[in-house]
Amino acid sequence: MTYPTFVAHWIADAEVPSIGGGSFEKRCPIDDRVVAQVARGGAAEVAHALSSAAGAAEAWAQLPAPRRGAILGRAAQLLREREQAFAAIIQVETGKPWKNAAAEVASAAELAVFMEGEGSRFYGRTMPSPILNRSVQTLRSPIGVCAAIMPFNSPLAGIAWKAFPALLCGNAVVAKSHELTPYTAVLFGRLLKDAGLPVGVYSAVQGTGPDAGAPLVQDSRVGVVSFTGSSATGKLIQKTVSERAVLAKVCLELGGKNPFVVCDDADLELAADLAVASAFVDAGQRCASGSRLIVFDSVYDRFRAALLARVARVKVGSGADDECGPVISRANLDRLIGQVAAAASRGATVIAGGQAVPALAPGYYMAPTVLEGASEDDEVSQQELFGPVTCLYRVRGFDEALRLANGTSYGLTGAIHTASLHRAQEFVTRYRGGLVSVNGATFGSGPHMPFGGVKNSGNGFREPGTESLDVYTELKTVVINHNPAQL
Ligand code: NAD
Repeated sequence: MTYPTFVAHWIADAEVPSIGGGSFEKRCPIDDRVVAQVARGGAAEVAHALSSAAGAAEAWAQLPAPRRGAILGRAAQLLREREQAFAAIIQVETGKPWKNAAAEVASAAELAVFMEGEGSRFYGRTMPSPILNRSVQTLRSPIGVCAAIMPFNSPLAGIAWKAFPALLCGNAVVAKSHELTPYTAVLFGRLLKDAGLPVGVYSAVQGTGPDAGAPLVQDSRVGVVSFTGSSATGKLIQKTVSERAVLAKVCLELGGKNPFVVCDDADLELAADLAVASAFVDAGQRCASGSRLIVFDSVYDRFRAALLARVARVKVGSGADDECGPVISRANLDRLIGQVAAAASRGATVIAGGQAVPALAPGYYMAPTVLEGASEDDEVSQQELFGPVTCLYRVRGFDEALRLANGTSYGLTGAIHTASLHRAQEFVTRYRGGLVSVNGATFGSGPHMPFGGVKNSGNGFREPGTESLDVYTELKTVVINHNPAQL
């Protein structure tokens, strides 16, 4: 499938341009070419999408959950049939290697299948009452209109992770595409239409955060704002919602600075393989990427050598066999190179990468980069870089490793490599994060697995899994006095 030369909004089951006709460029990270003009949305387009959603929400909410689920089941089938088309669009938008783009489509289809099943469960609870002739139960109620605001790193997973559970729960969805990955959410709208979703239940608006995201979040018709992106924007969104006349539920899935601990009893070869995958898959543009490698002193030199040997072999590019694609934009490439150089000027040593890959210019490819010797409170150790950059730290033992692991404002994922059950259990218990992996990578998710963070990585919600129903429904407690005269 070829990328359209003009990317429109998707409102009321149709591709529509901006009312004022404005647009901006979309460039492909693989070669810097302009692939499309994108409709520049603002308050007017958001209002149009919200009216369409508000008009459709009630009827959709009244459809029984298993029947809503059946539409997601058809969406899963269509995603599988259209895997090549979706992967082609994801690849133009992000530049990620083909197998990663195709994997995104497969995992979105798996999520739709899981959510279809949730439609037949959709459990509430019953509970006893101490009062005779009274019964008490909880029901899951749709919230109404959901705003879904997305990051750029996995455009299909980004929209699927929010829209499938939100729709299953009986909400209408207005998505705000990321300005750097605009078309996937439109193609997703076509897919939902073909799967039988009623008109207006799903829309996608294009535009920047301030132009299109802000009016969406400010509008009191939105009952739940589900945001995935940086911690700074997440905090701004929470503040914006708290200043509205009518509050809304706010689900924040934010950044990470994820530790990968290598103990003296670890399988160093396995640990080096998984450290490289954690740091460089999707060019490190993953909330769960392993950006801090914390290694026991006694195995530091051996692990370092094993790591660097593998880093040198990482295939950078977007082809069938490649592993590390480009970063999303020229601005991000320049920012990352600048951040690495600044860390070096403050005392860190660049032991791999640190530069763009000249042979792949003008694509935005950065060589997989490893820093050593950064102080633990340096900016590069504390801030999420969101690129193919990881830092090595030498620690004396477990206590220091745990202290370092917990020593940032983030708490998304973490991994420990050890043969000791006790150490693994201690890390699982004492690392403050939303996901812990023992002898694995810092990432790893599935449709049934709740994912989310603590501290600046999230505000307590989890997506997807059954737990995502807690984001997109309100629990209603129902008290029935079935013989009021004899309570
Ligand atoms: P970002 O915060 O810059 O932008 C995210 C989205 O917010 C974009 O669509 C943007 O247009 C919009 N936005 C910006 N300002 C806004 C405003 N004032 N009001 C409403 N919307 C606004 O993040 P990004 O750079 O696109 O994405 C990368 C970040 O996402 C990283 O921090 C990464 O860790 C995080 N992320 C988290 C998860 C997770 O599940 N926890 C998953 C993927 C990415």
